[in-house]
Amino acid sequence: MNQESPLPKRTEIAELGEFGLIRRLTENFPLAQPSSLVGIGDDAAVIAQDGQCTLLTTDMMLEGIHFDLAYFPLAHLGYKAVVTNLSDICAMNGMPGQILVSIAASNRFSVEALELLYQGIRQACSDYRVDLVGGDTCSSLRGLVISVTAIGRQVKEKIAYRHGARPGDLLYVTGNLGGAYLGVQLLEREKQLFLENPTIQPDLEGQSQVIGRFLKPRARNDVVLWLDKAGVVPTAMIDLSDGLSSDLMHLCKASGTGAEIQEALLPIEEEAKLLALKFQVDPMNCALNGGEDYELLFAISPEDAQRIQFLPGLHYIGSCLEASEGISLVGSSGRRHPLKAQGWQHF
Ligand code: ADP
Ligand code: MG
Repeated sequence: MNQESPLPKRTEIAELGEFGLIRRLTENFPLAQPSSLVGIGDDAAVIAQDGQCTLLTTDMMLEGIHFDLAYFPLAHLGYKAVVTNLSDICAMNGMPGQILVSIAASNRFSVEALELLYQGIRQACSDYRVDLVGGDTCSSLRGLVISVTAIGRQVKEKIAYRHGARPGDLLYVTGNLGGAYLGVQLLEREKQLFLENPTIQPDLEGQSQVIGRFLKPRARNDVVLWLDKAGVVPTAMIDLSDGLSSDLMHLCKASGTGAEIQEALLPIEEEAKLLALKFQVDPMNCALNGGEDYELLFAISPEDAQRIQFLPGLHYIGSCLEASEGISLVGSSGRRHPLKAQGWQHF
């Protein structure tokens, strides 16, 4: 009788999700170099070099997955690809210095189109005073891929990790939340309307803030400088790429704490609130679960609160608790709801 050999096990990527996949692929990579202070698991890796540390991070953007050229101008795309990486350096409380940019493009793209992409990259380099120092270029069968690596610096004592927050620490976010998510919803809707009827003109009146939040985000290097001037090093920090709920969970999990944030304290722009009402979605849901705001979420010890009280654009949203108390959102009625991570899933 012919005994069938068992099929090799096949696990779908979707079963693990993005973070599960990263964990699975990167386990059993012990760090051999004493200078590799921190490897995988934070917003950027930390390499020690005579007192100073180098911060390293990389992110890739794929056409059709991360951007749609129907409404994403190439110059904005180049700008955003750089800024999102600089944001990861800022999330370590570091200052970005250099970038490497790699692209893969199909023959659908002309030289002039790629020059537009680089116009945006140049603008970001100039806005953030970072230098483009290398990269790689290759062809792709379909579509555009852009991958940016950013390099930053900070002294060891001032680096802020995702771990490091303690129960009792105060939680802050910079800027406003949910705008980028509403911006992309608006652009998606206009694209659908255009596909149904190409003669209509987009109705983007009065929506410049949210569209800007999505197409031209900023990295909060200004906050890193202010905190430094105030003499405050956050006990933990992360940038908001996936959405507040999801990123707060990353910070709490890495720190081994719980947290409680107050619904009434979450900063949402007026324009975003109005647009959420128009789309019949809950603005709070956009603030908690909309991704790509690239603001910073950080924790500080309560003794440092006074030092940052006059810094512009910082919003106190709650505090860290013991891990056993979980992570929750306190509604305006005082009711506590456990937070769920519903951030962006690419798989
Ligand atoms: P962020 O959203 O801050 O860019 P990610 O969620 O992309 O962070 O990545 C989390 C961590 O996993 C980072 O330390 C990153 O460098 C690491 N990482 C992600 N993908 C890979 C990979 N394919 N191989 C090795 N490390 C990875
Ligand atoms: Mg990050």
